[in-house]
Amino acid sequence: MRSQKSSLLFKKAQKIFPGGVNSPVRAFRSVGGTPRFIQKAKGAFLEDIDGNRYIDYVGSWGPMIAGHAHPKVTRALQKAAQAGTSYGAPNPHEVFLASLIQKYYPSLEKLRFVNSGTEAVMGALRVARAYTKRDKILKFEGCYHGHSDSLLVKAGSGALTFGVPTSAGVPEDFARHTLTAPFNDLSRVREIFSSNPNTIAAVIVEPVVGNSGCILPQDKFLQELREITQQHGTLLIFDEVMTGFRVHLGGAQKYFKVKPDLTTLGKVIGGGLPVGAFGGRSDLMDLLAPLGPVYQAGTLSGNPLAMVAGIETLKLISTPGAFKKLTATTHQLALGIQKIAQECSIPVQVPHIGGMLSVFFSEKPVFDLETAMQSDTQRFNRFFHGLLEQGVYLPPSAFEAWFVSLAHGKKEIEQTLRAVKKVFHETQF
Ligand code: PMP
Repeated sequence: MRSQKSSLLFKKAQKIFPGGVNSPVRAFRSVGGTPRFIQKAKGAFLEDIDGNRYIDYVGSWGPMIAGHAHPKVTRALQKAAQAGTSYGAPNPHEVFLASLIQKYYPSLEKLRFVNSGTEAVMGALRVARAYTKRDKILKFEGCYHGHSDSLLVKAGSGALTFGVPTSAGVPEDFARHTLTAPFNDLSRVREIFSSNPNTIAAVIVEPVVGNSGCILPQDKFLQELREITQQHGTLLIFDEVMTGFRVHLGGAQKYFKVKPDLTTLGKVIGGGLPVGAFGGRSDLMDLLAPLGPVYQAGTLSGNPLAMVAGIETLKLISTPGAFKKLTATTHQLALGIQKIAQECSIPVQVPHIGGMLSVFFSEKPVFDLETAMQSDTQRFNRFFHGLLEQGVYLPPSAFEAWFVSLAHGKKEIEQTLRAVKKVFHETQF
């Protein structure tokens, strides 16, 4: 596969951007090699500047659930752009998108739009701290909640991939307010609550982890978190930036039947434009300015283009049968990989739910960060490059989830599985 043009441009980009990129995992540092510069995306496919086509399982890290450049989304964007790209004043699209979200997430009695998942989490935590008048938060190892200071403690995603789960530049004073426990470890959670009485404002969790790879909650984990937080007057925040409209139309809260106090959303609700949202109980959300003392604002929040992309994307994914198809496609892919691996005696774990999955090269089930890190990442890197050569574009890290879209059909899955078979059969694998 040619990659001369990408290589040349990457050399130039490295002189301009730190590591040549504007978000770290894109740099291919953990898998090695040259990142591909993308010039076009359509449906389930990406095309790079050397003219190579790939079946895409990154989907812009989640938002592209309807597939790339869906005509309904692009038409709505064109129409909206002609009506002006930003007003800095309320617009009807905001109300419409919020109502659509509330239809599937009744726990969001009130919500506010922001421009990213990071911002959504910052807002939710500020509200939680203001309401409880407590400073500490409890998060789980390997969960990623954006790049704000207090959350870059034992974080997942790129922070984990690059070995800086607790970032430099985070003041000790901030980090000490962030307590951490292993995902799925309720006894540790209970211990932390008993040694920190009346000080924990919120427990924040990715209800299905996507940022150490895809890791499912064990039986009753989320339900118990709900009970423990209630007992201690602590708020429960579900960070559904990744899982929202992805593990279920109603998110993990609907799937696992647990009602959080606050929820953060992002990715899918913006259909590929920068959108995040946080919301929950009215009494909490009404603490926000202009009603209450918690300040939060945004020049481009509720941007009309971002809102219409979200609206069209949510309409597409909530079309009858669409989500079922997404789940079935993901399941077919996951089982297909498991089957081929078994034929080749390659130990794998392929956790999957809704439209997300991960492939861990491990004999043991993966249920937390530690078990994820015990998987064979060298093998993943060979897998990544083998598939890239075959025209399949995976997240360039063993600790990221893969995202399937409505544009992935039988044909794309079969083509992917043929490529997997080829790579698994290569002797050096
Ligand atoms: N929370 C979760 C669960 C995420 O997966 C992410 C991004 N991957 C974020 C927050 C941060 O979102 P953003 O990159 O839009 O700031």
